[in-house]
Amino acid sequence: MKVAVIGAGPAGITAAYVLAKNGISVDLYEASGRVGGMAKTIELWDQKVDIGPHRFFSNDNRVNELWLEVAGDDYEMVDRLTRIYYKGKFFYYPLKPFNALINLGPIRAISCGLSYLKEMISPTKLNGTFENWVTSRFGKQLFNIFFKTYSEKLWGISCQELDSDFAAQRIKKLSLFEAVKGAIIGNRGNKHKTLVDQFAYPTEGTGQIYDKMAKRIVEAGGRVHLNTPVQSVATENQVAKSLTLENGETLAFDHIISSMPLTLLVDRMTEAPEPVKKAAKSLTFRDTLLVYLNVDATDTFPDNWLYVHSPDLRMGRVTNFRNWVPTLYGKEKNTILVLEYWCYRNKDEFWKWSDKQLIELATKEIKATGLIGDANVTDGHIYRIPRCYPVYNIGYKERLEPLENYLRTVKKLSVIGRYGAFKYNNQDHSILMGLLAAEALVKGEVADLWKINTDYDTYQEASVITKTGLQKIE
Ligand SMILES: Cc1cc2nc3c(=O)[nH]c(=O)nc-3n(C[C@H](O)[C@H](O)[C@H](O)COP(=O)(O)OP(=O)(O)OC[C@H]3O[C@@H](n4cnc5c(N)ncnc54)[C@H](O)[C@@H]3O)c2cc1C
Repeated sequence: MKVAVIGAGPAGITAAYVLAKNGISVDLYEASGRVGGMAKTIELWDQKVDIGPHRFFSNDNRVNELWLEVAGDDYEMVDRLTRIYYKGKFFYYPLKPFNALINLGPIRAISCGLSYLKEMISPTKLNGTFENWVTSRFGKQLFNIFFKTYSEKLWGISCQELDSDFAAQRIKKLSLFEAVKGAIIGNRGNKHKTLVDQFAYPTEGTGQIYDKMAKRIVEAGGRVHLNTPVQSVATENQVAKSLTLENGETLAFDHIISSMPLTLLVDRMTEAPEPVKKAAKSLTFRDTLLVYLNVDATDTFPDNWLYVHSPDLRMGRVTNFRNWVPTLYGKEKNTILVLEYWCYRNKDEFWKWSDKQLIELATKEIKATGLIGDANVTDGHIYRIPRCYPVYNIGYKERLEPLENYLRTVKKLSVIGRYGAFKYNNQDHSILMGLLAAEALVKGEVADLWKINTDYDTYQEASVITKTGLQKIE
C-alpha cells in the first residue's frame, strides 16, 4: 500500500510516523521548509522559541505513550505559572482566592460572590452561546472580568455569537466551587484539565518531537518532502486516487491522509457537490500575528505565559521563553517574549500592518504592563499565522455538517488536524487523529476521526507524563 500524507504538523507527521514504523510506504508532503506545523520550534537571536506558548498535555494514554516513545529522555517537567493581567492587576490562573480577593477589592469581590450565588439559585438558561455557558457556571461578574474581554479579543465576535462548544472544550466542567476548593484543599490527583500545574516539555523546544519523528520516518524508509505544497486531491467515483502538487505533478496513491485546510481541500475536489463547496466557503478562521521581542534583560517576569484581559491593550497573551527550559536560551543574556494579536486577515487592516508598526505597538504595550520594567527592547520579529483558529461561531456545526457528510462518502481519504478537520485542536488531539488515521490502515481498526475532540469527556485509558515516565490514572 502506498500512502500520501498532506501536512507535517502534529497530525500529519504522527500519521506518517506510525505508518512508516509499521512498514507502510509513506510520502509526507509539507508546504513549508520545516516540519511541526504550528507546533514547530524556530531559531531566533541564537535561541530556540516556539510559535507562541506550547504546553503539551494529554490524559490519553495512547497519546502520552507515543509522545514519550519519541521524546525518550529529552524532556523536563516544567512548573506552570500563568496569570491574568487585568487593568493593572495580576490574577493567578488558576485563581487563588486570597490573591483574587485582594485584586478585586471588597466591593467587586462581594458582587462576584452574589452573582455566583444567583446562578446557583436560579441558573441562566443555556442557549448554546459561550456567554450563557460561562455565566451559568461562574456568574455574570466573573464572566465579565475573566472571560469576556479575552474571548472577544481572541475571536473578534461577541460572546453571544460564540458557540458554547468553545467553552465545553476548553473550560470543561470547571466550576467556581471546584476552583476555590482546589486552591484551598487541593484535588488529590483529580485535577481539572485546565488546572494542571506541571507539564512535560522537550529540552530543545516543542518542535523537537516532530523533528525526531521526521528523522525516524526517513530511517524507516518513508519520504518527507519539504517545500512541496499540495494543490488538490482528485477522486474518481468518490474514491481518492491521486494528489496534484503545486508544481503541477500528479501522483497516484492507495490512500491519502490530509491535514491541509479542510475548506481548501473540499473547494478543490472536482467531484464535491456545489452545496458542499458553498458550505466550505462559509466556514471562517481567525488569524494570528505573533510579535517576538528581544528584551535586554534576563529576569523580567516569572510566568510561562500571561493572559492579557485588559480591554485597553490589543495583545491577548504574552509568553516568556526564559521560563520554560534553560536549553532554549543557553548562555544568552537576553529574554525573548512573544505577544499574540488576532484579526481577520480578509477584513482587518491590522493584518497588513508593517513589521515596524507591529513591533512599535508590541513594545509600547509590553512597557505599559510594567512587565519588563526599564529593560530595553532591542529587536523584533513578526510571524504571521493564517487560519490559526477555526471559528466556532453560532451555526458553525450546521455549516460543517455537509462537509463532514460528504467526506464520509469519499473512500481512501482521511481528513485530520486542526484546520484539516476544522477542530480547535491542541497538539494532543491532532496527534490522536494522526495515530488513529494510521492505525485504521495498519490494523484495519477504523475510528470515527470526526468525533475526536468532540466527545469532550471520553478518555480511554488515562495517564499523565511525569519525570519518571507514564503514570496511570485510575
Ligand atoms: C499561538 C499558539 C499557541 C498554542 N498553544 C498550544 C499549547 O499550549 N498546547 C498545545 O497542545 N497546542 C497548542 N497550540 C495548538 C497546536 O499548535 C496545534 O494544535 C497543532 O499544531 C495542530 O497540528 P495540525 O497538524 O493539526 O496542524 P498544523 O500544526 O497547522 O499543521 C498543518 C501543516 O500542514 C501544512 N500544510 C498546509 N497546507 C498544505 C498543503 N496544501 N500542502 C502541504 N502541506 C500543507 C502546513 O504548512 C503545516 O505544517 C497552539 C497554537 C498556537 C498558534
